[in-house]
Amino acid sequence: MLTDHRIDATRLLQRLDDLAQHGAREDGGVSRLALTDADKAGRDQVVTWMRALGLEVTVDAIGNIHGLRAGRSKGPPVMTGSHIDTVRAGGRYDGNYGVLAGLEVVETLNDAGLTTEHPLCVSVFTGEEGARFAPDMLGSLVFVGALALETALAIRDAEGCVLGEELARIGYAGDTPVGHTPVHRYVELHIEQGPVLEAEGVTIGAVRDLQGISWQELELAGQANHAGTTPMQLRHDAGYAAAAVATFLRELTKTLGGDQLATCGVIELQPNLINVIPSHARMTVDLRNTDEASLQRAEAELARFLAELQEAEGVTIATRRLARFEPVVFDADVHAVVRRAAEGLGYSVRDMTSGAGHDAQMLARICPSAMIFVPSVGGISHNPAEHTEPAELEAGANVLLRTMLELDAQS
Ligand SMILES: [Zn+2]
Repeated sequence: MLTDHRIDATRLLQRLDDLAQHGAREDGGVSRLALTDADKAGRDQVVTWMRALGLEVTVDAIGNIHGLRAGRSKGPPVMTGSHIDTVRAGGRYDGNYGVLAGLEVVETLNDAGLTTEHPLCVSVFTGEEGARFAPDMLGSLVFVGALALETALAIRDAEGCVLGEELARIGYAGDTPVGHTPVHRYVELHIEQGPVLEAEGVTIGAVRDLQGISWQELELAGQANHAGTTPMQLRHDAGYAAAAVATFLRELTKTLGGDQLATCGVIELQPNLINVIPSHARMTVDLRNTDEASLQRAEAELARFLAELQEAEGVTIATRRLARFEPVVFDADVHAVVRRAAEGLGYSVRDMTSGAGHDAQMLARICPSAMIFVPSVGGISHNPAEHTEPAELEAGANVLLRTMLELDAQS
């Protein structure tokens, strides 16, 4: 029976360990920003493993790495994958786990001498984190044709380095055309990066949808003045206005209810002195919802509040959109396959919404897709302390194996 096969957890854990040495931090975390020397070293390691497993390795023009295992037919592959870039002070599982579990699936099938009907593909997408080159999920965005290659190659990091030049510098400006590649099914295994699975003692999350994200930057301009001599009714206090926006956001989540999330992560004041009314404030707003209509309502409510605030406080507020992704509903059938695979292996499973963005949301634009989550201890990620228990890493990879085999069986 195909379903009798199990991955080798020792091998998977060893590869996770080995890959974490590239860009290793003293605190046990990993710093492997996209297209740095550390990223190149990590990529070289993954490509070496892919070749050793007999995969046909191609690198496309945005630097995505694809390792193809031939099937009985030559049609579109069952694809899995993720990313190996990290944030500046990241962990060893985010992204890496999905890629290396994909290699483990391949090695398990190699050991068993099994050939699937469709080819299998393990992909490493460029610059998922967006921590060096924005936007995030860049490689998969170009792969599905949602961002032009030329535009992506011209993006600069904070130091002014050009993405295309960095890609060439590390030897990953590939010669394979990017995008418009037919894919049969896509499934991505990832750590949850949140606390839900651990809190409920559940091993596997069958991810059925992914929150929409709306990012804005607000510049508020008022008038600096003396904190002792300026009467309250004559102030144009950009600091107060920024605080009012932050408070409004929390109230908004209560009014809208449901899945609405709102975060003000940055407030910077000028001149930032104890006895001066702030003249300027720069702040960010992060709105998320699984429902597009609700997310639009949250954006509209915020816009209405900002208009009122300008009027009432005599400040001007300029808004700039930093990112906007609609919520994604994953394919119901692929999601059901993940659930069945987890149940068939005897693991506890629950349906989930992803609170974070992932390459899978881009792949969902071109083929039936879904995701598998495993618990994150303490819900911690984007942090050297990121951890998932070995038994759960093993469970997730086994669910990935069975899911890919079942998706392969679908015509
Ligand atoms: Zn990730």
